[in-house]
Amino acid sequence: MTAGKSGYPPIFDGHNDTVISLAGEGFDGPGGRSFYERADKGHIDLVRAREGGLGGGFFAVMARPKASVAPSASGSGGVDISAVGRGYSPEGGWPPPMPLDEAQSDALIRFGKLFELERDSEGQCKIVRTAAELQECLDNGIFAIELHFEGADPLDPGGQALEVFYAAGLRSVGLTHFRQNIYCAGVPNIFPSSPDIGEGLTDAGKELVRQLNRRKVLVDLSHANEKTFWEVAGITDAPLVATHSNAWEMSNSPRNLTDKQLAAIRESNGMVGLNYHCGFLRKDGEMNPDTPISVMVDQIEYLIDKLGIDCVGLGSDFDGSMVPNPLKDAAGLPKLMEAIEERGYDNAALTKIAHGNWVRVLGQTWGA
Ligand code: ZN
Repeated sequence: MTAGKSGYPPIFDGHNDTVISLAGEGFDGPGGRSFYERADKGHIDLVRAREGGLGGGFFAVMARPKASVAPSASGSGGVDISAVGRGYSPEGGWPPPMPLDEAQSDALIRFGKLFELERDSEGQCKIVRTAAELQECLDNGIFAIELHFEGADPLDPGGQALEVFYAAGLRSVGLTHFRQNIYCAGVPNIFPSSPDIGEGLTDAGKELVRQLNRRKVLVDLSHANEKTFWEVAGITDAPLVATHSNAWEMSNSPRNLTDKQLAAIRESNGMVGLNYHCGFLRKDGEMNPDTPISVMVDQIEYLIDKLGIDCVGLGSDFDGSMVPNPLKDAAGLPKLMEAIEERGYDNAALTKIAHGNWVRVLGQTWGA
């Protein structure tokens, strides 16, 4: 196993929102940036990834309704990402799903951006479609990109769009984001709350899970409410995976997983990726960037206690969340690895957490 530049095993990460961040429509505000130059905003570019030993990750494509995209104060085309979670009310629930054609055109542009990124990388980046390709990238220092939908909004119930996006490279689908679509509704971004909030899968949602299963596309349970979680668990024969969620007992956000859910994930030989968002890490749920790295490691240790060392990895939510200041961005990842190592984990365990478990669960789900 080739060690990353950081001295630690290379990290493969379960979630980032870098595509929208590069476009200047993300958490770090307007203006956009290059993936190949070191930026002083956002969390991931290739330079900082190399510095921190980040070898790749799930790149989320999230279709968003135009109505939720507020123009930036500077007028330069940026987006108020806080609008993404807006629209939920305890009385009225969620606004209606976004139209399919709107979601599809958004997804096509985001996918196109990632193919451009691979094309322009001169062999430094590769879109991976099998676990073997992923492992090869990690071994050879090629930055691995996994194509992910955060929200199934661009997929039609008949399954035709899934065939097209699969052919292009789509390998994982989160059923929903902080929204409602025709398949299910996500959990709202409120604290504290049980994840048992809202209805489960619609009939179309159940059919979608079957379609994804047949295509061996990973179904991501992050953002799903508890009813949806258990219904998916009843339908799928693949390992249960939450790409970027934490333990609910440690932080009572509905985005996190209860002990019962963690037990089901363990039972299925599935996987949870640690989310670095302060609001999902902290006991008080506060959006406070002065959060020590030890809080992240406390979450990791809890997850390992419940799931075992073979079912825990990283799922940063880089470029889509408030990351603790001491970590800052992808270049800070060795500090996280060091803090985990200091709790007594050896190189074999660190390798599993860094990427080994992701390679295992993806190979098992994708069948290649
Ligand atoms: Zn997310």
